[in-house]
Amino acid sequence: MQSSGQKDIDWLFPLKNKILAGIIVILSFSMAVTVFFIVMTLRNDLLNNSAVKTRELGNAVKSSVKKLMLMRTTGMIQNTLEEIKSDNSSILRAFILNRSGKVKYSSDKREIGQTMDRLSNISCTGCHHKDNKPPSQSTIILEQDGKKIHRNIMVIYNEKSCYGCHPESQRINGKLIIDQSLESTYSLISRLELIIFGSGFVCFCFLLPFISAFLNKYIREIISQNADRTFLYNMIERLSKSIEMDELKHITMDIIKESLDADEVFIIIPKVASDYSASEWNNADSEVTRKKINDGDPLKNVLKRWMGKEFSATEMSEDRKRIYIPLEKNSILLALICVGKTTGTFDSQKHDLITIMAGHITIAFENARLYHMATTDELTGLYTKRHFKYYVEKKFVDYEQFGDKLTLLMIDIDNFKKVNDTYGHVAGDTVLKGVSQCIMASIREDDFAFRYGGEELGVILPASDSKSGRYVAERIRDTVELTIFQEGVHKIKVTVSIGVSTCPEDALNVKDIVLSSDKALYKAKTTGKNRVVLSSEA
Ligand code: GH3
Ligand code: MG
Ligand code: MG
Repeated sequence: MQSSGQKDIDWLFPLKNKILAGIIVILSFSMAVTVFFIVMTLRNDLLNNSAVKTRELGNAVKSSVKKLMLMRTTGMIQNTLEEIKSDNSSILRAFILNRSGKVKYSSDKREIGQTMDRLSNISCTGCHHKDNKPPSQSTIILEQDGKKIHRNIMVIYNEKSCYGCHPESQRINGKLIIDQSLESTYSLISRLELIIFGSGFVCFCFLLPFISAFLNKYIREIISQNADRTFLYNMIERLSKSIEMDELKHITMDIIKESLDADEVFIIIPKVASDYSASEWNNADSEVTRKKINDGDPLKNVLKRWMGKEFSATEMSEDRKRIYIPLEKNSILLALICVGKTTGTFDSQKHDLITIMAGHITIAFENARLYHMATTDELTGLYTKRHFKYYVEKKFVDYEQFGDKLTLLMIDIDNFKKVNDTYGHVAGDTVLKGVSQCIMASIREDDFAFRYGGEELGVILPASDSKSGRYVAERIRDTVELTIFQEGVHKIKVTVSIGVSTCPEDALNVKDIVLSSDKALYKAKTTGKNRVVLSSEA
């Protein structure tokens, strides 16, 4: 059951690899985008933070330099710049330019007196453009000797306090420039990038087997559901193949033993009689046989409980070796299916499947029961006249198509009126039933026995000529003659007369074959009863 479902959707596994590849691509892309934005945000924050710190330092230096300028202690200014560099490892240099770009003070004494041309000096061209406009920002990032630096530029203005010494035309006194290395900030950014990418990658590698296992789980679930669905479709198709109870029992047994991997299956149809028998299949002999359920049989107890309405839903025994599936429709007990396992146990997960299966089997059994009721005579258990007509017509079609012969026996109980008159109608019924059983016991499984009407019965012998017809008719006549029918204290004996006709010798259609058998039967009656007469002799 599993294998056919599995085969149908084997393509899911290659598809899984494609789904996995798709997930990897999408995850990688979204991870890259996320990491990019995280890194960009962190990078900007770190650079801003560094710029703020450079500016704060610049402001502090600027105010102390201004004080020193007012105090005209120029040596102290030079000292202050040198101290800034020696106290802060990240400060590359700090210097003050005058209006004409000449270095007046510098943390690097060697630079003092040098003139920095804003348009050609490499450390100035980053901020000054050829159009000679001043730099737009006070803190900028420059590249010097292949390394990034933060340059903080602060203009030192002439203020009221300076007017005494400086003319108004020289208000801008100079610029304090502090260069801070961004090496540590950039190495922190690189480390962060590495950590985020690395941890993302490691997470991803750990995640991959989980995603794969997750997909495998769902694929297995799809396969299992598909197998169950395929099984159910097949089951419905197989159940709909027959409406005959016997055939249906065989089909049901096959379905159950395959789906539940059972070692034995019993189907019990309830009867009014107290002795029960079950159709039995087991692993040892794969034939379906009949088994009488005696008092000591464990099935008897289950049967009693079921018939006593103690359970109406599928039950599994505690040791999981037996499953009991009751089939009921509108409170009518249709059948009890008992499934057994001699080795191993049943899978308790199959409960839902068994319930669905039981539902479909119940419908099939109910249909078979209704069909049986519609085609079978209640008293005799033989087929009805209507079903006989349907069947015999089919046989004439077979004759026309394949040339299959057929023989019809018309049987009438002799002096039956007398039985009724002497022993009553109940005794008459018993005799009628008994004669029908004599007929059933005298014919093959393929032969078709029916009640034509009243105490007139019949048998169709497919693929048989008049010789075999006479042979079977004699056997029936003989069996009835030798049987004693008992009704209460009365022991009743009857005989039958039988008319035999054959297609194609005596008739080529339904009407003619019935007429010629009747004719032969009439001859049997008029020539002494308890006789078999062929149509050719009538
Ligand atoms: P013959 O040998 O000529 O056939 O004589 P017979 O008495 O059998 O005559 P006939 O066939 O005319 O009688 C049929 C009788 O069968 C009449 C009817 O009361 C009886 N009968 C028909 N159907 C049933 C039935 O279902 N149960 C019972 N008990 N009797 C039936
Ligand atoms: Mg009669
Ligand atoms: Mg009659």
